Amino acid sequence: MAYIQTETTNVPDERGYYGEFGGRFVPETLIPALDELIVAYREAMADPEFQKRLMDLHHTYTGRPTPITYAERLSQQLGGAQIYLKREDLAHTGAHKINNALGQALLAQRMGKKRIVAETGAGQHGVASATACALLGLECHVYMGSVDMARQQPNVFRMKLLGANVIPVESGSKTLKDAINEAIRDWVTNVQSTFYLLGSALGPHPYPMMVRDFQSVIGVEAREQILEATGRLPDTCIACVGGGSNAIGLFHGFRDDEDVELIGVEAGGHGIESGEHAARFADPSTGRPGVLHGARSFVLQNADGQIMNTHSVSAGLDYASVGPEHAHLRQTERAFYTLATDEEALAALQTLCKMEGIIPALESSHAVAEAIKRAPTMPKDSIILVNLSGRGDKDLDTVMRELKLNG
Ligand SMILES: *Cc1c(COP(=O)(O)O)cnc(C)c1O
Repeated sequence: MAYIQTETTNVPDERGYYGEFGGRFVPETLIPALDELIVAYREAMADPEFQKRLMDLHHTYTGRPTPITYAERLSQQLGGAQIYLKREDLAHTGAHKINNALGQALLAQRMGKKRIVAETGAGQHGVASATACALLGLECHVYMGSVDMARQQPNVFRMKLLGANVIPVESGSKTLKDAINEAIRDWVTNVQSTFYLLGSALGPHPYPMMVRDFQSVIGVEAREQILEATGRLPDTCIACVGGGSNAIGLFHGFRDDEDVELIGVEAGGHGIESGEHAARFADPSTGRPGVLHGARSFVLQNADGQIMNTHSVSAGLDYASVGPEHAHLRQTERAFYTLATDEEALAALQTLCKMEGIIPALESSHAVAEAIKRAPTMPKDSIILVNLSGRGDKDLDTVMRELKLNG
């Protein structure tokens, strides 16, 4: 079975555009490196040995295929659609990010680049990158804002245990966007020896395409599994959207199934009116087309085009831009986007714990919240497939703090 889909779609075009979104907005010095990457990626994808190596690692190391689980008690309680969960929380390191980190690390190895740089916000992509580098014997340097390092001590320690060099970033707001700037700067300086391992379906072409292809294993597996379990396709697929990698990976399995509705859920934070959120598609006065970190997409910005500060209870959804392919899927109405607030995500997290014995990541809880809203409005013989992008163990501190605040 081919795990990686590359030929099912005509996007992006040769220049890396998804309709009017995407492209390569980078310093001139990076263009040859991006061109080299595109060629190496296409060669790797055309090489059955590369695909087999990745598939073997997914079987023996990542724990793929991850199962789908019928959420029977939750479905019965809601009284409408039958809810199935794609269990990326069961993948090694506890989330879907390893699918992409392993794919890119294997590509770096094939290109003869022994030095990896990555950026991380909450630390989840840093941990996935450090894991893949340890496995393949690559040198790993992770840029992380010093504010994020203080907030995410356990992940800093995990990365160090895994042999990575964690580099504190003291510029700007000392968070993810500053870490991305530093990682890009490092790459520009050391481009001969270094591979930039990017964590979501973001950045300049070919990253959004590569990350999507590596994450499409989620959708390819899930489609086969739901057909086997129920004899039919789901009516609706739901996934949370930070940069957009777990969602685009799920959506790609069903992209050509026109009757399957695709729903992305953004972080509504404290609500759109509060201005404290990370919902790029929700409010046209702040979420508008713009360029951030190498690609044109929807970006949260003020009237002068300054990037806005974002908020979400889940660190993984807390980013001012979104992958360009999502902007395109929304514009062409192949996918639809909504949001869940912090409060709704926290409630959904508790519901899934009590009804199904699964502690979901706060990010994934946004997708669960949307399923909880929709299921009662749908017939009993309909099916919702939710991508459970990760497990909630990393979020226990946050959840404890938030629940106490809520009384
Ligand atoms: C990082 C993360 C996300 C958000 O990233 P995407 O690229 O949008 O998938 C979602 N869920 C979990 C568990 C994460 O760790």
